[in-house]
Amino acid sequence: MTELIRARAFLLPALTVAVALLDLPGRGATLARFEYVEPHMGTKFRIVLYAPDEATADRAARRAFDRIEELNHIMSDYLATSELARLSRNSGGPPVKVSEDLFRVLAESQNIARRSDGAFDITVGPIVKRWRRARRRHALPDHESIANALEKVGYENLVLNPRGRTAHLMKPGMELDLGAVGKGYADDEVLKVLAGFGIRRVLVAGGGDIAVGDPPPGRKGWLVAVEPLNLAPRAPVRTVLLHRAAISTSGDSEQHLEIGGVRYSHVIDPRTGLALTGYRSVTVVARRGILADGLATAASVLGSEDGLKLIRRFSGAGIFYVEERPSGMVTREARFPRFLRLNSPTPSAPTATIRKSDLRAR
Ligand code: AMP
Ligand code: MG
Repeated sequence: MTELIRARAFLLPALTVAVALLDLPGRGATLARFEYVEPHMGTKFRIVLYAPDEATADRAARRAFDRIEELNHIMSDYLATSELARLSRNSGGPPVKVSEDLFRVLAESQNIARRSDGAFDITVGPIVKRWRRARRRHALPDHESIANALEKVGYENLVLNPRGRTAHLMKPGMELDLGAVGKGYADDEVLKVLAGFGIRRVLVAGGGDIAVGDPPPGRKGWLVAVEPLNLAPRAPVRTVLLHRAAISTSGDSEQHLEIGGVRYSHVIDPRTGLALTGYRSVTVVARRGILADGLATAASVLGSEDGLKLIRRFSGAGIFYVEERPSGMVTREARFPRFLRLNSPTPSAPTATIRKSDLRAR
């Protein structure tokens, strides 16, 4: 069996994540390949797994999707009933006891926030909401509303206590947003759920956030291609072979706002309250999905130089950074894994292609 996963990401108008899965006849494989897709967390989750029989595969996949939905009810900032929303409503009050999942995600997020010096910050909720409204109305948020929202932002005002497993939002009006790490964490948890069924040859892709377990039978890894759209013909294509790793791309997606020829991203610089502008695509490989996801967002905000520095400080992490500037395409990388050329020796006809624009659920 051969797997080609083409995470076709970025730059320019319709950001596309295309996942192309190719099957070639395997040799003596006792495992069969199964593939499942369901909408969750505002995107589609795809699970590709190898299992001894269909009944086991179906049961395992069902449990995995149920787990994603459970996590959505914990981490969503869209659902007023989520644990995260309840926690945000308690901002300015006493510390709140939180679930193990939420505590883990908050703790990991705070670690990235500290190490990125606040470029990554899950307390950006109030600002993100203003930019979301701006996208709906197609009008930039005014200076005053950004300044007001900024007063409620700051990761130092989220205090975690591991002993009591509590989270304390110190200022009233604070709102947490786990959009930059949630899908990566869900990917990690899917791998765990499936391992509980003895299924370890797995790929899970929540939109542009992918985690993989052991390789498909007879292969060295899962082939993941990060490639730009045709509107950026000179943008580089990189393909990596991964196992027991995660890869995430943060960058301009269809969720951007374009006004006066300027393109405003859904990623915010929490230090200014302004959306990132221009065209950039940042892909991070890491040992776990939550890290790949969070670090890709953090490095987007930090830019090519500081972004690379940040990634170098995380063991096992690598980065492939692409930015289109007026002066031309800038590409930088650090410890990005071994790459392969797509033309050969990989197979040619994808059996499935997913475009990110088809995946939007909200
Ligand atoms: P991603 O697509 O993983 O880069 O995540 C982007 C999402 O994370 C946005 O839609 C926001 O919900 C949230 N976000 C935006 N800016 C930041 C930031 N600087 N730090 C943490 N989360 C952010
Ligand atoms: Mg992210």
